[in-house]
Amino acid sequence: MRKKIVAGNWKMNMDYTSGMTLFSEVINMVNDEARGDQEVIVCPPSLFVYSLAQLAKGSSKVSVGAQNCHQADSGAFTGEISASQVKSVGAEYVILGHSERRQYFGENNELLAQKTDAVLKNGLRPIFCIGETLEERNQNVHFQLIKEQLEQGVFHLAEADFAKVVLAYEPVWAIGTGVTASPEQAQEIHAFIRKEIEAKYGVEVAENTTILYGGSCNPKNAAELFSQADIDGGLIGGASLKSRDFTDIVKAFNIQ
Ligand code: PEP
Repeated sequence: MRKKIVAGNWKMNMDYTSGMTLFSEVINMVNDEARGDQEVIVCPPSLFVYSLAQLAKGSSKVSVGAQNCHQADSGAFTGEISASQVKSVGAEYVILGHSERRQYFGENNELLAQKTDAVLKNGLRPIFCIGETLEERNQNVHFQLIKEQLEQGVFHLAEADFAKVVLAYEPVWAIGTGVTASPEQAQEIHAFIRKEIEAKYGVEVAENTTILYGGSCNPKNAAELFSQADIDGGLIGGASLKSRDFTDIVKAFNIQ
């Protein structure tokens, strides 16, 4: 049975005090209200990862991730953080390939494959994001693009390593826009992704891979999205900044 996951991506929001308050509220609510078989991951700005990971130690349901890391182990890369540093402060996950990293920081599939290797080598799990722009969807090249993102970003991995990858389908046109993919649109792509995994790694690996949906997911639309056969949870941006909204999304699994 694949894992149900809701992950929050705070992006470059929150100062230390407001972040700690938000995370404390999330931990308390999730501990009380989430089903036992769900995993909740919060990815704050890297400065706060250590403090959040300390707080998360008391929770069996909540863990912490970084939003990015460098592909090298260490060295003269001013301003960057390595996967081993992320690991050393208690995180368990790293988001890779978010469309904002691809768009604003020029991250391509080749670089992301290297980052994926670094993350796995250091005992962390990547939350690997893929998805098309509106232009690509309108040109009907989105299936091909997603196939390439998979092939070039994560399909070089051996099966045992691929099994540690969480995928997130995030249509770029839905991120932070308030426009959500319809459950049917999202399910269509998730089923396509699972078929591609099956073709590469076989049916068992495909069935066990968690594939999250991301893009303006909120407490109102989460239950319908999460009820789709191939949608195993969400990667949540804006709504992860409010403890009640985020926890209500976590609880959406219970009301399918
Ligand atoms: C994201 O940034 O990964 C995201 C899904 O953002 P939002 O929920 O705000 O659309």
